Amino acid sequence: MPELTIGHAGLHRIEELRIPNKIGYFTQDAALIDAHRHWLEPHFLSAAGGFDLVFQSWVFETAGRVVLVDPCTGNGKPHVVPFFDMLDTPFIERLEQAGFRPDDVDIVVCTHLHHDHCGWNTMLRGGNWVPTFPKARYVMQRAEVDRWGRDRHLHPAFAYNDGVFERSVQPVLDAGLAEIVTGKRLLAPGLTVEHAPGHTSGHQLLHLVSDQREALFTGDCFHHPIQLVDPGNPFGDAEDPVLLAATRRQLAQRAADSGALLIPAHLPAPYAVRAWHENGAIRFAAANTG
Ligand SMILES: [Zn+2]
Repeated sequence: MPELTIGHAGLHRIEELRIPNKIGYFTQDAALIDAHRHWLEPHFLSAAGGFDLVFQSWVFETAGRVVLVDPCTGNGKPHVVPFFDMLDTPFIERLEQAGFRPDDVDIVVCTHLHHDHCGWNTMLRGGNWVPTFPKARYVMQRAEVDRWGRDRHLHPAFAYNDGVFERSVQPVLDAGLAEIVTGKRLLAPGLTVEHAPGHTSGHQLLHLVSDQREALFTGDCFHHPIQLVDPGNPFGDAEDPVLLAATRRQLAQRAADSGALLIPAHLPAPYAVRAWHENGAIRFAAANTG
């Protein structure tokens, strides 16, 4: 069963990992937390102030294409953080349990090229990193590919992402499977990527429209919904915090205007946030709740 439904599209969630986290890691503002506790609890905040940061991909079929969003960290890849180092998870088995084989995937969207959003782009075969989804086009922003590839020397070293480009992006480029875009690009009817910068310079979102219902897959534009009401909240290794705050404000406004569900990369159940206008302010709630 899909966890979420947008029009005709059932959205299936493929989980790789989860890490217990604390709201205090995102904000120390007790008054702010209390003001929003009524919609954050119990989904995105426990009584003890915790929530799970979940590492997951979404896969769905729309307009005759199978689409996979943000393919997690991947197996067998070295990482400086032990939690992500040399994983061996049944991600592909979980994908198949959801009804999709790797060969079925037509479009892979990487919102950005941090390790946990492009890892399953490739897998190890005979000592080489090869594309996991050999029939897919992999959609990435030009600014993001250049930032981690050709222009990496222009940016500070970031150990968190060491080797990611070589293992998870370059083999896709070499195989001719990358669709590198600049800004907005229609991928299929009702399916568009758009630049949503700040977390990284080339971060993008995926906009899905099906039967007049909308979703925005927002990657790491926010990690916890408190960052929608406090857009300047700095957590998340933002490359450009000012641009990220502006992106968050635009997302909240757009979700309230259009009714689009916001589906960020790392939220626990019910995985998405909805927004609406009320008394001159934007209100939020967990998806699928009253
Ligand atoms: Zn992430």
